[in-house]
Amino acid sequence: MSTDYIGRFAPSPTGPLHTGSLVSALGSWADARHHNGKWLVRIEDIDPQRESPEATTQIVESLFAHGLHADENITYQHDNSQYYNEALDILRQQQKLYACTCTRKSLRALDQTNYPGTCRNQQHAEADLALRVLIEDATIAFKDLVLGQVTENVCQSVGDFIVRRRGPLYAYQLAVVVDDARQNITHVVRGSDLLDNTARQIALQRLLHCPQPEYLHLPLAVDDDGRKLSKQTGAQALDNSNALNNLREAWSLLGQKTPPESLVTCQQFLEHCKSHWCRDLVPLKSS
Ligand code: GLU
Ligand code: ZN
Repeated sequence: MSTDYIGRFAPSPTGPLHTGSLVSALGSWADARHHNGKWLVRIEDIDPQRESPEATTQIVESLFAHGLHADENITYQHDNSQYYNEALDILRQQQKLYACTCTRKSLRALDQTNYPGTCRNQQHAEADLALRVLIEDATIAFKDLVLGQVTENVCQSVGDFIVRRRGPLYAYQLAVVVDDARQNITHVVRGSDLLDNTARQIALQRLLHCPQPEYLHLPLAVDDDGRKLSKQTGAQALDNSNALNNLREAWSLLGQKTPPESLVTCQQFLEHCKSHWCRDLVPLKSS
């Protein structure tokens, strides 16, 4: 196994795995395995109000039932506060961090897509307020391994964004950047619902002097009405007793060629996935 490639699957435990999340799990697994890389699993449990320990157990059991085994012990973001605080310190030392007292309501009233920097020079005491990172007005470009060149000016699209939420709770953008760097992740393979977070994450990587991984965004599994499969749209939990068929369905949603019917165990099927995975077949859009 090489350390030139370390990939990961990083679910938030908001519910059991469904077809959509299995597509991300299998896509990240296959891309890592095909390149003789490592594959890690990280449970992104930083929001106790939305997440539950039961969902964590269900996700872990479901991955196991589908033969998707991580190369190292599963890690949990709730263990990592110390590292997120260290990252906030780095931003604070660079004077890139400030507390924000704006409410959702006050921001909505501004009718602007990006945060206009209202609290930038207010010097609010941090206490448990939300903290925002100061973002420069510059275009960030990266090459997605499936979608090609993507550009975004974060300052204009979202503005100074939140890295620690009121509470305080660590924000996804901060936690994901810190952990991808700590775990030496080289390839981030995930659903394209996360595409528009990528430029923000790159902006943070630069401020924190973290290496920038490669990105590959997978098509989203959608329901018959074209809506993303998710708990919110009532996606069904995977039936672990039907694991092989679930893998077949996920593989087909990844645009890959149909494997022979003669593969009758998850293990045989995954061996096939490992050798036959082809990035060029991954569709740009879900069908
Ligand atoms: N935890 C995030 C989610 O489940 C995904 C994080 C990532 O892959 O960057 O939506
Ligand atoms: Zn503010």
